[in-house]
Amino acid sequence: MHEFVVAAAHLFLGAVCAVCGAPGWGACFVCRSAIEQAVPHEVRRTGLDMPLIAANDYRPQMEKLVPVFKDDGALQLAPLLSRRLALAAGCLDVPKGTCLVPVPSLRSAVRRRGLDHSAMLAASAARRLKLPWRAHLRRDLRGLDQRSLGAADRQLNVEASMRARGNPGAVVIVDDICTTGATLIEAARALKAAGAIVLGAAVIGDADRHSDTPTADFHPSRSRS
Ligand SMILES: [Zn+2]
Repeated sequence: MHEFVVAAAHLFLGAVCAVCGAPGWGACFVCRSAIEQAVPHEVRRTGLDMPLIAANDYRPQMEKLVPVFKDDGALQLAPLLSRRLALAAGCLDVPKGTCLVPVPSLRSAVRRRGLDHSAMLAASAARRLKLPWRAHLRRDLRGLDQRSLGAADRQLNVEASMRARGNPGAVVIVDDICTTGATLIEAARALKAAGAIVLGAAVIGDADRHSDTPTADFHPSRSRS
């Protein structure tokens, strides 16, 4: 069925894979398979004091797919990306009832895109894991888009830039890409300040890794997805 949809999309819409340019609806069969076969790995960043799992390396696929999904409205990538996020979060093997909390998108980005992609991925990953999710975090208006900043400026830009609402309880923070880790560190700080127990974090892509970088993989022996 998927092959038929891809062929029809290519024929009528000229749909091509966002990664390699071959005919594809969002991602071609080859790129999709490479993404699905990647083994999640543990990510370390200075100042990060919780387990963090990434489903995939950043390059070559995620650096193309995530921006196309978020900025170009390629919503057909949502099932693939949320499946990867669920796989990473499932590796943390958290207790039943643990809440997935998305790193909030900038309000300006949500307005521009007309959709909150972070919330969409968190909701979908939570459904797959049979866990609840909730948008406990809010960003201050002063936060700039991290993508335009270097490592030191990223740290300054996010410090004390989030606050948590409600009674979060036990949580796992979820986000699309981990770059310096500054955003996840700030998210954890804000959640802990609201009384949350932060069990870990999960992301789709690890911006420090490309698929030719050998490091120890995380083996999801008890993964639930
Ligand atoms: Zn491709």
